[in-house]
Amino acid sequence: MSIQISIDGVSMNAEEGQPLVDVAADNGVYIPTLCYQRGKPCLGTCRVCSVKVNGVVNASCTVKVAQGMEVQVNEPELNDMRKGLVEALFSEGNHNCPSCEKSGRCELQATGYELEMVVSRFPYRFPVRVQDHASEKIWLERDRCIFCQRCVEFVRDQATGKKIFSISGRGTNARIEIDVDLANAMSNEQVKQAVDMCPVGTIIEKGVGYNHPVLQRKFEVKTLRERVLSGETP
Ligand code: SF4
Repeated sequence: MSIQISIDGVSMNAEEGQPLVDVAADNGVYIPTLCYQRGKPCLGTCRVCSVKVNGVVNASCTVKVAQGMEVQVNEPELNDMRKGLVEALFSEGNHNCPSCEKSGRCELQATGYELEMVVSRFPYRFPVRVQDHASEKIWLERDRCIFCQRCVEFVRDQATGKKIFSISGRGTNARIEIDVDLANAMSNEQVKQAVDMCPVGTIIEKGVGYNHPVLQRKFEVKTLRERVLSGETP
């Protein structure tokens, strides 16, 4: 059913029940996301897409639009809150962009640029999380993981449907894990999909590195904002 909502005072049409974050993108309003991927079930883990819905802060990937909904996206307080969430992610891990293979195709880095982040307002934790090199085709740079859970939910063993990635521990002891036997059974194509799906440089394909020249890297060819607003999965 066709309905009307307003975003920042601008009235727009939508289909009832569509994710708010998609409706915004379809109408030219960029809302950053790090766990949400268009067309996939909502995870709601990063909260970077938070906006005000009828005066209450909500993650916009979790909200289904309804008739008369009033949404605020671009308010100074909300812009700063989303930027603070991204800054917290940079502080929580080790994100040394100049030396990272994912630089130029990293959604966290690209989101930092979109939000005009310069430095985190939070103290850097510099966590030490041991790398995992056990599987044949993938290694894990664990200290870059932002725990979005994309890999956990969407990368499955093709024969059994079992999860290949999981998160162990809690709080500051949490870390990403990989099932080595299932990872070794992944096709080369599935490995590439897992690498692309990871919004940071945690899941890395062995034997490949820095193979996209500077200025030809993903978000240099087309920015994250342009990709989101054209309906692409970044
Ligand atoms: S490894 Fe990547 S995709 Fe998986 S939870 Fe961490 S950041 Fe997300």
